[in-house]
Amino acid sequence: MRALFRVGSAAACAVVLAACQSVTSPPAATVPASVAPTAGVTPPAGAAGCPASPYGARSDAPGGTKTVALTFDDGPGKSTAAILAILARYRVPATFFNIGVNMAARPSLVRAEVNGGYAMGNHTWNHPDLDDLTAVQQAAELDEASAQQRFITGTVPCAFRPPYGDYDSTTLRLAQQRRMGVWLWSVDTQDWMAEGSGSSYWVDRITRLAEQEGGALPHPIVLMHNEPIGNPATVSALPAIIQFFRARGYRFVTL
Ligand SMILES: [Zn+2]
Repeated sequence: MRALFRVGSAAACAVVLAACQSVTSPPAATVPASVAPTAGVTPPAGAAGCPASPYGARSDAPGGTKTVALTFDDGPGKSTAAILAILARYRVPATFFNIGVNMAARPSLVRAEVNGGYAMGNHTWNHPDLDDLTAVQQAAELDEASAQQRFITGTVPCAFRPPYGDYDSTTLRLAQQRRMGVWLWSVDTQDWMAEGSGSSYWVDRITRLAEQEGGALPHPIVLMHNEPIGNPATVSALPAIIQFFRARGYRFVTL
């Protein structure tokens, strides 16, 4: 019943909403004056560094043959450095969908992601349910997160993922105006449910979901997390997940 885990499922979103709110509570962070909230919906100048992106949301990894995209949401967090070390060891690219407040709290990890050549994604400033917000509020969520990345690294994200997979036509329009492709996922490892546990139960569960759901698809996008509280089970599962896809001939791509 893979459909149950697809984004857009009301049940799945409700579950994610309840849990993600507890694990992504923003740490206290001071917003630098240079990234003060953007009032309007005018695209920021920095977004010009990204290629044009079509309107709409996608949930299949790009590329012609078998491809897989590993994605890590809600960071940076306690496990980000360990995840980066594993990705480097296996020479695997990945995409990080960062939250603005978490970037402000751990700027050195944002620099490590950019310096490591990983793809950077915008996951809003503080992880709201975007379809509850006005267009101006949504634009501020996108622009503040991009501004934070630019403030730290001098780069801007060219990909966007809406929190909980919830978005509306306004979200898609704002992202397109900012030259950010909107990426959902097709494989939900549900790793956030471990809530900081690194037990073998969670390692096995995350690995099994990634392999069973992902191995059945030609272009899976695998959703994992690196939120502030840490994801030790995700870290432990990651080598096996990488080896699984590599052994089956998948090429690792970024979004
Ligand atoms: Zn998220």
